[in-house]
Amino acid sequence: MKGAICAAIAAGAIAMDATAAISVVPMPNKVTELGGFCLATNVTIETLTDASIPAEGYTLKVTEDGSVKIASSGDAGRFYAMITLEQLTKDGKVPCVEIEDAPRFKWRGLHFDDCRHFMGKETLMKTLDAMAYHKLNVFHWHLTEDQGWRIEIKKYPLLTAKGAVRPGSPKPAVLKKPGETGQDGTGWVNNNIEYGPFFYTQDDVREIVAYAQNLHITVVPEIELPGHALAAISAYPELGCTGEQFTPWTRWGVSEHIFCGGNDKVISFLEDVIDEVCELFPGPIVHIGGDEAPKKAWRKCPKCQARINELGLDGEEGLQGWMTRHFTEYLAKKGRRAIGWDEVLDGNPGKDTIIMSWRGPEGGIKAAARGNDAVMCPVNPCYLDIEQGIDEDPCEYINYGFKLPLELCYGFDPAAGIPEDQQKHILGGQGNNWTEYTWNGSEFEWKVWPRMSAIAECLWTEKKNKDWQNFSQRIVPLRKSLVKRFRINASPLR
Ligand SMILES: [Zn+2]
Repeated sequence: MKGAICAAIAAGAIAMDATAAISVVPMPNKVTELGGFCLATNVTIETLTDASIPAEGYTLKVTEDGSVKIASSGDAGRFYAMITLEQLTKDGKVPCVEIEDAPRFKWRGLHFDDCRHFMGKETLMKTLDAMAYHKLNVFHWHLTEDQGWRIEIKKYPLLTAKGAVRPGSPKPAVLKKPGETGQDGTGWVNNNIEYGPFFYTQDDVREIVAYAQNLHITVVPEIELPGHALAAISAYPELGCTGEQFTPWTRWGVSEHIFCGGNDKVISFLEDVIDEVCELFPGPIVHIGGDEAPKKAWRKCPKCQARINELGLDGEEGLQGWMTRHFTEYLAKKGRRAIGWDEVLDGNPGKDTIIMSWRGPEGGIKAAARGNDAVMCPVNPCYLDIEQGIDEDPCEYINYGFKLPLELCYGFDPAAGIPEDQQKHILGGQGNNWTEYTWNGSEFEWKVWPRMSAIAECLWTEKKNKDWQNFSQRIVPLRKSLVKRFRINASPLR
């Protein structure tokens, strides 16, 4: 029976039997079980370079005599082969197997919000380790927000001296009661506990980027513009339209105070920030935000209105579009590409801007149709701050009005709804966690894992090789590894 199953797997006819020796996540794309095993203490690994193997792909052959042959065209493929070998090894034995594997998508990401709550270096490093174990390769680092600025910028020390500390945060217990009115009459109750200063020094950033590089993970830093900017405006009031003095926000939600789009000093400030960011992050892509930018302040601002008139822009949306194009071009001059949240499509961005589709798949579908590359992370099923539907869950979640259990995450297909000739524009996808209701690293891990394991398989494994029943068996030992080996506070399986 076993032989018949193996032959069928090799032919790609059926998913692997749940009792099979192969328990790897994400599922490799072609697996042939050869039968038998060798002892892990007895293997000799031979690595070869083969330029014909796709980027990040590898072949791996394990035979009973302890010979392990790995071939790849580069370092990343070799690294992933070693991870597969590690996951194959169980109780000191390695099953004899032949694997031919390469990822479905080149962008396999996780989004990390360090702003609403500061997750910190320890959680971040553990997250990178766990990501590499899933062959995830993009760490999207959300570093600036209304509620906090988390990266040291040498030219503007107040960004962290003032912008990395806020005078309080919403009180969670009170916010659970709808309609409750807070001290300021808004429904937000400030706990009045100073939060911070929390930020990463440039030395921290260099250490993290180097650590990620070793794990074949590219770090994509995000500097939000023009919205989600209140922490920066609190540090330097002249960056806003009114010059008013604020503090970093003590509420969740979206502040209406955004970077002034009409002030040349604001543009220079952002260029200076991007200069330092590009020095710190060698990766090819920088995220420039672009989501949820209320235009109320711009409508009343003489400088913003003057820019709109002078350049003949299409109102405030046109002004945001001008900023997106400006910073996309600025980054291009530095050899980098810009990525922005899907709202940037409203401002008619250039074809180089990558679109990150979050409000649904529509942004990505539209982007691909107009020739822009896209990364898919629609709220459903990619937002890991949505309730996961496990029993007696101690965590709070953002209420999006639905639950997102593991199985729904496993159904993610970044290319769904994209015509075949446009699928080349879908770079991949990612899981996102926002930390309004994620109070610390332990809660972050609880929300992210193992749902991120499911998303990782969606990004690596070809659709025809995915199988929920089979995954639900493989996720059991993988979750144990996350807990024991990586010290990750992964939530239980249902
Ligand atoms: Zn303005």
